[in-house]
Amino acid sequence: LVSVSGLAKSFGDHTVLRSIDFDVAPGSVTVLIGPSGSGKTTVLRSLNALDVADAGRVRIGDVEVDFSDGPVTKKQIATLRAQSGMVFQAHHLFPHLTVLENVTSGPVLAQRRSRAEADAEGRELLRVVGLGDRADAYPYQLSGGQQQRVGIARALAVRPKLMLFDEPTSALDPELVGEVLTVMKDLAAQGWTMVVVTHEIRFAQQVADQVLFMDGGVVVERGTPEQVLTRPGTERARQFLHRIL
Ligand code: ATP
Repeated sequence: LVSVSGLAKSFGDHTVLRSIDFDVAPGSVTVLIGPSGSGKTTVLRSLNALDVADAGRVRIGDVEVDFSDGPVTKKQIATLRAQSGMVFQAHHLFPHLTVLENVTSGPVLAQRRSRAEADAEGRELLRVVGLGDRADAYPYQLSGGQQQRVGIARALAVRPKLMLFDEPTSALDPELVGEVLTVMKDLAAQGWTMVVVTHEIRFAQQVADQVLFMDGGVVVERGTPEQVLTRPGTERARQFLHRIL
């Protein structure tokens, strides 16, 4: 479903991604791990065109953007962005909108779908994330874990081909992490294609089809969770896992 090749990105003279290559099969879960600053977030933001890569190709489904061909157009960026839904570390919900309105704002405003259809689908998505009874609440009335689950429903609401998660549990109190990971496991079991940046190694072990270990803007190791997490082949991965486990 996803193919990334030769992806490179610098901020000024700071090279963040050197040459990233990976593929994501439909319905699979890819987990990106690695030390802070290794470029994981920048990979997700490049897939979603929140960051515009300097070189390389990103293909999601039948949409392909080649960043090496010179400047990309706004239309190319918008088309690429529309292929994925992104869940951030902090949820960025609109505080003045209800939970349901937060979920339906993308479909109604950006996709011009009818309010009735978006509401019906939004309520269903809130049920999927376990918040079917909180549609009319406001974000401040919810716990951090519930807010993050609304963020997931909102990302799903635009019917993306791919779901991107950027450390979705790292800002949560420990007791709220589980409920968000449970929703993510459910989505994986339903066949969603997901790319997840996380330090939750147990989640990676249970859910990932492939794990990419990044360091210094390159993918240093890749493979099944068993290969990368249990029997890492490089000293860099071993040291990283030792630090976080
Ligand atoms: P973390 O786990 O800390 O989020 P990460 O692996 O996700 O780390 P990135 O967030 O991709 O790493 O950042 C990689 C490097 O790029 C960091 O050194 C960061 O300071 C730098 N960087 C990211 N975004 C920008 C930006 N907009 N302008 C300048 N530098 C940036």
